[in-house]
Amino acid sequence: MSFFSAATFLKSVASLDQTPPSTGEIAFAGRSNTGKSSAINALFGHRLAQVSKTPGRTRLINYYALGAERFVVDLPGYGYAKVPEAVRAPWKDLLGGYLLGRAPLRGLAVVMDVRHPLTALDRRLLEWFRPTGKPVHVLLTKADKLSREAARRVLRKVETDVAALLPQVSVQLFSSLRGTGLEEAAAVFRGWLEPK
Ligand code: GDP
Repeated sequence: MSFFSAATFLKSVASLDQTPPSTGEIAFAGRSNTGKSSAINALFGHRLAQVSKTPGRTRLINYYALGAERFVVDLPGYGYAKVPEAVRAPWKDLLGGYLLGRAPLRGLAVVMDVRHPLTALDRRLLEWFRPTGKPVHVLLTKADKLSREAARRVLRKVETDVAALLPQVSVQLFSSLRGTGLEEAAAVFRGWLEPK
């Protein structure tokens, strides 16, 4: 069994005081409907994260346990226009509080649709996260939707653009549908979770 396939759902939390004791965790963030849940499920090798029919519905932080107090954390998707402001504000606080304040967080996976990478909200998230000095790995998902060459062009462009935003950042192509890039991603995340 691979490292990530041992994952089990632990709990959903609505505030930071409900987060579990942790020796290390990695978190997934991204615009709603980019394929974040599918990417997490692909990493686990089975379906744990809920693939959304209603984009932006999940506004809780979901914890998946890997054992030895290590976790994969699924953060609420952002940028769904139909979420009313009254809901959006506390949700932003939860996300921001987690990203900037969570000490056991080792690195952030940011999921972007390869056809619409680095939106204004993605940039804001990256700028927000930069002061932590923690690494970011960008998954350009749904790579199966573009030709190989077009996908490579996007990869190179995004690599250049994010390097200007963050000191510690890597980017790769990914397809949950085809399994493209799965091993590369697992290796990066596994590295982040090595005991310190
Ligand atoms: P989330 O809202 O970011 O968690 O996105 P989901 O994982 O729920 O996926 C949103 C939609 O994109 C669903 O209809 C998925 O089936 C589809 N999807 C996700 N990943 C891929 C992929 O790698 N390739 C293709 N073609 N579709 C995908």
